[in-house]
Amino acid sequence: MRVLKFGGTSLANAERFIQAADIIEKAHLEDQAAVVLSAPAKVTNHLVAIIENAKSRENMTACFTELSGIFTAIIEGLYQVNPKVDRDGLLDLINSELAQIQGVANEIIKTGYCEDKVSATVHCRGEKLSIAMMKAWFEAKGYGVTKIDPVEKLLAKGDYLESSVDIAESIKRMSSESIPEKNLVLMAGFTAGNEQGELVLLGRNGSDYSAACLAACLKAERCEIWTDVDGVYTCDPRLVPDAICLETMSYQEAMELAYFGAKVIHPRTISPLVTQNIPCVIKNTANPEAKGTSIGNHPSNDNVMVKGISNLDNVAMFNVSGSGMQGMVGMAARVFSTMSDAGISIILITQSSSEYSISFCVLEKYAEKALSVLNREFEQELSQHLLDPIEVINRLSIVSVVGDGMQATQGLAARFFSALAQVNISIVAIAQGSSERSISAVVPLEKAIDGVRATHQILFSNKKVINLCLFGVGGVGANLIEQIKNQRAYLANKDIEINVCALANSTKVVLDKGGIDLANWKERLMNSTLSSDFDTLNAFVKQHHIVNPVLVDCTTSPVVASWYAMALKEGFHVVTPNKKANTSDYAYYQELRENARRSHHKFLYETNVGAGLPVIENLQNLLAAGDEVECFEGILSGSLSFIFGLLEEGLTLSEATLLAKQKGFTEPDPRDDLSGEDVARKLLILAREIGLPLELSDIEVESVLPRGFAEGKSTAEFLALLPSLDQEFAKSVEKATACQKVLRYVGSIDNGKCKVSIKAVDGDDPLYKVKNGENALAFYTHYYSPIPLLLRGYGAGNDVTAAGIFADILRTLR
Ligand code: ADP
Ligand code: ASP
Ligand code: MG
Repeated sequence: MRVLKFGGTSLANAERFIQAADIIEKAHLEDQAAVVLSAPAKVTNHLVAIIENAKSRENMTACFTELSGIFTAIIEGLYQVNPKVDRDGLLDLINSELAQIQGVANEIIKTGYCEDKVSATVHCRGEKLSIAMMKAWFEAKGYGVTKIDPVEKLLAKGDYLESSVDIAESIKRMSSESIPEKNLVLMAGFTAGNEQGELVLLGRNGSDYSAACLAACLKAERCEIWTDVDGVYTCDPRLVPDAICLETMSYQEAMELAYFGAKVIHPRTISPLVTQNIPCVIKNTANPEAKGTSIGNHPSNDNVMVKGISNLDNVAMFNVSGSGMQGMVGMAARVFSTMSDAGISIILITQSSSEYSISFCVLEKYAEKALSVLNREFEQELSQHLLDPIEVINRLSIVSVVGDGMQATQGLAARFFSALAQVNISIVAIAQGSSERSISAVVPLEKAIDGVRATHQILFSNKKVINLCLFGVGGVGANLIEQIKNQRAYLANKDIEINVCALANSTKVVLDKGGIDLANWKERLMNSTLSSDFDTLNAFVKQHHIVNPVLVDCTTSPVVASWYAMALKEGFHVVTPNKKANTSDYAYYQELRENARRSHHKFLYETNVGAGLPVIENLQNLLAAGDEVECFEGILSGSLSFIFGLLEEGLTLSEATLLAKQKGFTEPDPRDDLSGEDVARKLLILAREIGLPLELSDIEVESVLPRGFAEGKSTAEFLALLPSLDQEFAKSVEKATACQKVLRYVGSIDNGKCKVSIKAVDGDDPLYKVKNGENALAFYTHYYSPIPLLLRGYGAGNDVTAAGIFADILRTLR
């Protein structure tokens, strides 16, 4: 005999119902089948809502209409496929059941109260109706059906809404049932009977447990749980799309995973099966060909150390502490027996080694009751201040990592906790199961899904996903998008995926958690109605639990730069070519580094200086290795490198500037380059990197243009005025040439002083040959002396800058 259980989603409509019936028929033809059914999806929720609404005297019509709709549709669907189905009989049954429930509800409305005993009889009505429909289906096909009454056969103990089955007694009761060999066996799930013969429930999601009990009672060969997923996954596949379906699991692993919240099976399902060594198989009704997950006594044969990660939500943690607890014998026992006398189960316990405190978790729905019984139990100790007032923290979740192989694997806990840290979770408490089969962390409820995702990524996924939020889609930003598009396949080979989930210009943002199609991002951005601000982005990231998003700022906006501190705090990495943040006041500069350090997120700005040249990282590595920068000289502006190069070839300042502008080497208004401001910002960034706590105003800047030149004039007017400087400039060039020198626009750091100025350099100087838009940075350090470390190459241009940003984006994975 095989037991097959079908969950609500497998019976949600006529089509699914018939799919389930076909599976049952096939199984029954191979081996006698005993079937346990849940209520069709949503039905139990409506029945629970009817009772709750009746208690608070709220309208219940919608629930009744929905219920009637669900059942009628299934019955009509069954009848359409097989007209022998007793449609009228079933419709009458539904109507009379609903009318009876309405009668119960009317009684509740009168008093505003409903005993659990009564609630139980209503909550389980969906199961009863599922059985009636399945029976009608098989009878119409000419099968003999034996219906088992769970109230009579499954003896349960506990309260009306959540009882546990006494397997030994139920086996005895079942043995009195004579089941004809050919008959299909049907039993409603979720339901059992107490010693008094009253109907009790096995807790929400309890039909799995019913099936396990029936399998134990009938000594079935196996127990099949048919649901809407291919088996037990390493994580809830609804939360983690790349969760892996497991082939096998041990009973203990399944129990632990279910206990800690994996909804795929009810936590008590496994225990009735263990004693009789009945294997349990999880299968997908919509995909019966899939192998499913086999849970049994077998040791894991798949070399997977961790089998799953789960979250148990809506948990409250209690802290019982106080100086009087030290050495107080039997404190823990009193705490726990108080809970057990109140019928509240404790999910997790931790005790500090100093014995000053005991912390434990219960489901939040029991928190109020738990607090009141504890306060009563410890009334005396509390009044004498031997105990501190009992602390309750609500809105928590328990995230657990489960696997038999964990005992033998080192470093798993460290990886688990570092995953939680990566998504900015502060852990409230930690517990390890005594079997070493699980490690659990108590975390804030709203962070649980982030925690599960990050842990899954670290423990299971070779694939690394970068969730990118790109602000600024001008020259550099658009180039970056192209590079990302072109590198997709290359990165996929290295198990890296870049998911662009936000794209913004200065006014609008387009958001898509699944990734924006980079082939038509312009259109989507144009049609977006969302405003381009940090709050919109952050709310979206939080809502969709996007793990480790990377904020890439390809704007030059001081506003976007002002978001970084917040973004780092909120768990973003920040990658930026925008120099505004690193050159704003020193306090903000420090705040960014502090926030990045605290949140374990990266703040990367390699392209702030020298565009794609590896300046910042090299400098940081040198300093980390104990080197010291004694002085620095560099050509930090591509446009000025181009212009000054042309001067020595005989062009005038105005001719050179115009050419640079025509080639797109300058800013739209060349004064932005010639003023020296951009070079000053880069120099400040280098100076701060070296450790000088300077402000932008500390940088001495010699502009290429005389003070006040063409002030208030348009770009065109400025260009028209520029030739008036040519003669003066030509004189300086001539003077330099006379001494075999060339003019360069140089940023220098010497003795803590930063200066941007026009310098005449000779042939021995590393900057002598640097022109044509090239950048060069010469670091004179302890290690690099007397020949400096020279970094040279194109220091501007959309391509190289975007490539530098791309490299920083990939560095967020390290
Ligand atoms: P049924 O109605 O068949 O009882 P449930 O909704 O109770 O189905 O359970 C199946 C659901 O359990 C799946 O759709 C899935 O979202 C969820 N689930 C949670 N954790 C896991 C897991 N580790 N593996 C598979 N499914 C899981
Ligand atoms: N129908 C019940 C519930 O929704 C029992 C079950 O589905 O297992 O909780
Ligand atoms: Mg279920």
